[in-house]
Amino acid sequence: MEPGHAHAPVLQGLWECVRAAQEEVLLAPHLAASCAFLTHVLLCAPFLALDALGSVCARVRSWRIAAGSGPPPPLSRWFECFCRVLFRYITVVAPAAALLQLLRSPQVPELAPSCWQLCVEVVACFLLFDTLFFLWHYVMHRVPWLYRSVHHLHHQHHVPFALAAQDASSAELLSLLLLALSSVWLLGCHPLSEALFHLLNCWLAVEDHCGYNLPWALHRLLPCMGGAPHHQAHHSQQSANYAPYFTHWDLLFGTYRA
Ligand SMILES: [Zn+2]
Ligand SMILES: [Zn+2]
Repeated sequence: MEPGHAHAPVLQGLWECVRAAQEEVLLAPHLAASCAFLTHVLLCAPFLALDALGSVCARVRSWRIAAGSGPPPPLSRWFECFCRVLFRYITVVAPAAALLQLLRSPQVPELAPSCWQLCVEVVACFLLFDTLFFLWHYVMHRVPWLYRSVHHLHHQHHVPFALAAQDASSAELLSLLLLALSSVWLLGCHPLSEALFHLLNCWLAVEDHCGYNLPWALHRLLPCMGGAPHHQAHHSQQSANYAPYFTHWDLLFGTYRA
């Protein structure tokens, strides 16, 4: 144990449970992709409820960013999007994640991370992922054939909604999976930090696309983050706001639009 970095009993208890299930659960080849898909759908569910509430509640309608561009997407559009995302998870993401799981030799340390280590690693992962995503996203928009063959599908949504966060071509989904995993591997994160990063990454991607500027959204607390208004401007203008979460790269490269 590192001196001065007390390991929180709750984290250690949680980590003991995970380690106990290591053989059956941690190494199951399709677990990561199945969890990612389920998490994505569960995190989207509240926004489907908001879309439904919008027809009867003016307060909810006032939170919509693109109030002038019509009502929220109908249920049929949610269903079509769900089918497309599920299809790509089954055919591409799950096999790729299973292959990567077999290739990497997961290390299962004895100790859970300290709360401090957990926070530092997760924040570092987000900063690195945000940088890699910004560069890759910028290149996809600047190279016409890359845009057409990889990124165009995601931009079919001029006014995005929560489920559209993962509605992208197979190549783009694979590239985002690789960027997220590279961020974790380059920083040598603890598996618990990695799991928390993937969970929060999924949440923030959903929030980016939700179409609502909610009073309790993270970007209201942390002005260094762009949130849904930032990313929705990217979907409508295309030539700005390339970073997924933070605003510093767009401010630095002059591609920031409020
Ligand atoms: Zn998007
Ligand atoms: Zn884009």
